[in-house]
Amino acid sequence: MADHTPSHLSRRRFLQGLLLGVPAFLAAPRSLFASRRLNDLSLTFLSTVVPLSRRSAWADYRAQSAKLKIAASFSRITVHHSGALILRDTARGNVIDDLNSVLDAHTRIRYGDIGYHFVVDYAGRVWEGRSLSYEGAHVSGENEGNIGVMLLGNFEKQKPSDRQVDTLATVVDLLRGHFDIPARRVYGHRDIGASVCPGRFLYPHVVALKSKKQRTTLA
Ligand SMILES: [Zn+2]
Repeated sequence: MADHTPSHLSRRRFLQGLLLGVPAFLAAPRSLFASRRLNDLSLTFLSTVVPLSRRSAWADYRAQSAKLKIAASFSRITVHHSGALILRDTARGNVIDDLNSVLDAHTRIRYGDIGYHFVVDYAGRVWEGRSLSYEGAHVSGENEGNIGVMLLGNFEKQKPSDRQVDTLATVVDLLRGHFDIPARRVYGHRDIGASVCPGRFLYPHVVALKSKKQRTTLA
């Protein structure tokens, strides 16, 4: 339990700060990254490649850490849609409203935070969801070591935009490189849970990711 003490967290943040201050951090050995959770570092890397909004840009809700489980590492990625509504709006304020609707729904069922780690909107922008310091809450019984990436929209009824699909591919590629996740461990929700999610128009794009060679690495 020492891992959860405030002093340990502070020390970890301090070490991350040191790493972020080193311009050559991208060349650090993979083992250095694999041995830490490094949420801020992984997001800094992501933000150099895709337009990324941090959680503080859209959510006022404070994650209820007592309800969340610390993540040791990640070994798979699962893709979702938000379902229900057809969403094509790209106005930033409206996307923020949509994100908060999802957050509200998840906190009402006592998840303690939004269940997904990342959300991709119709414009292809990435929004930080639940911190990668914690396990997600997006596939019943299958959340351990599982990064949740959700695309806004109902892809049973609408097609994802090209930008959304491109950003999904980029995010999955970067996360695979960062956490050393093989292509076969990229799933659609329906692969591992009783659901039509991520919808018939998005699922083929997820299948394509399962055979894609990982391109971008940290080293
Ligand atoms: Zn889903």
